[in-house]
Amino acid sequence: MAIERTLSIIKPDAVKKNVIGQIYSRFEGAGLKVIAARMTWLSEQEAGQFYAVHKDRPFFKDLVSFMTSGPVMIQALEGENAIAKNRELMGATDPKKAEKGTIRADFAESIDANAVHGSDAPETAAVEVAFFFPGMNTYAGR
Ligand code: GDP
Ligand code: MG
Repeated sequence: MAIERTLSIIKPDAVKKNVIGQIYSRFEGAGLKVIAARMTWLSEQEAGQFYAVHKDRPFFKDLVSFMTSGPVMIQALEGENAIAKNRELMGATDPKKAEKGTIRADFAESIDANAVHGSDAPETAAVEVAFFFPGMNTYAGR
């Protein structure tokens, strides 16, 4: 199985709940390595650009407003099958539909305040990792 990288964001609701460490434990427990990380407060422009694929969706304004409502913790994860593995750990977008034991089932309240972001495919993972960690290959630790 391929070693992949994926982009993860711990969203403002989960940062406010003080569960960064618990979420990191789940990455580590699943064999995903944090190879770059940055805590920041996204501007409207950054959040809008990051979620540009959703710009025509009815929830876009709410999404940008939520993602800029507080600090976020952004990380690149690396490991076998990292993209799908992270999506599995996260659970379904709507926490009410997320399987028991997933991050969203355990820490999220609603479809908009849903604790985490994770890239959904190799193409988006590459774009998203580069968006927040340009020049990543030069400092990724192994
Ligand atoms: P994800 O890949 O599981 O995060 O889901 P999507 O890529 O489909 O949507 C991106 C993000 O937009 C989700 O994580 C939610 O925070 C938000 N979102 C998606 N659908 C809705 C919705 O119907 N209403 C609201 N308010 N937010 C939504
Ligand atoms: Mg998505």
